[in-house]
Amino acid sequence: MTAAAPAAPVVAIDGTAASGKGTIARALARKLHFDHLDTGALYRAVAALVLRAGGDPASRADALEACKAFRPGIVPDAELRSAAVGEAASQVAVLPEVRAALRDYQISFAAQPPGGRGAVIDGRDIGTVICPAAAAKIFVTAGLEERARRRWREIHARDPAKSYEAVLEELTVRDARDSGRAAAPMKPAPDAVLLDTTDLSIDAAVAAALEAVRGKLEA
Ligand code: C5P
Repeated sequence: MTAAAPAAPVVAIDGTAASGKGTIARALARKLHFDHLDTGALYRAVAALVLRAGGDPASRADALEACKAFRPGIVPDAELRSAAVGEAASQVAVLPEVRAALRDYQISFAAQPPGGRGAVIDGRDIGTVICPAAAAKIFVTAGLEERARRRWREIHARDPAKSYEAVLEELTVRDARDSGRAAAPMKPAPDAVLLDTTDLSIDAAVAAALEAVRGKLEA
């Protein structure tokens, strides 16, 4: 009888909006030769489908209709990245039925990453709900004003009319909704390494994350 192959390791990266978690997750996946899954993109896709249909992201019926139409890759990246879709994503993400509809895809990716070596998965509930047994967990955050500055700089080129204050207000609302919801609220897993990127360059943040993860993967 041959022994079962050990499950591929999972690195769970959770954290607040505009904390740098996506950039860190992509960089870690590249350096470790693991596959990367951005789970925010799944919630954004459901939200984009609701908006495309002229629906209300806070409506359970509209969100469930969008879940039925959802397939990974169905919404182009440029559409997923808009501020309106990000805001709507945090509204559909409150609904337990939407979370349940997206759960299997995330769990299958974690169990069988396409490249077979391992997965880096980023989101809000990866270390707590989707992969509580992940080999390494990092919770990334940064000060609210620094995150607002980063997000404002990111969107300024395509939306010069948007003020820093408006971005700050949107992030405040999003943080409160993501951490205050009953279903899978955003919070660090008890065994997560906390990484505050407020005063870190991208390279320094990636280096700190890599060091934390290597220690866990080698343990
Ligand atoms: O990370 P990103 O900004 O793309 O996520 C958009 C929204 O999707 C978040 O504000 C959050 O409400 C939701 N989300 C979630 N759980 C995840 C990933 C994202 O609730 N695992």
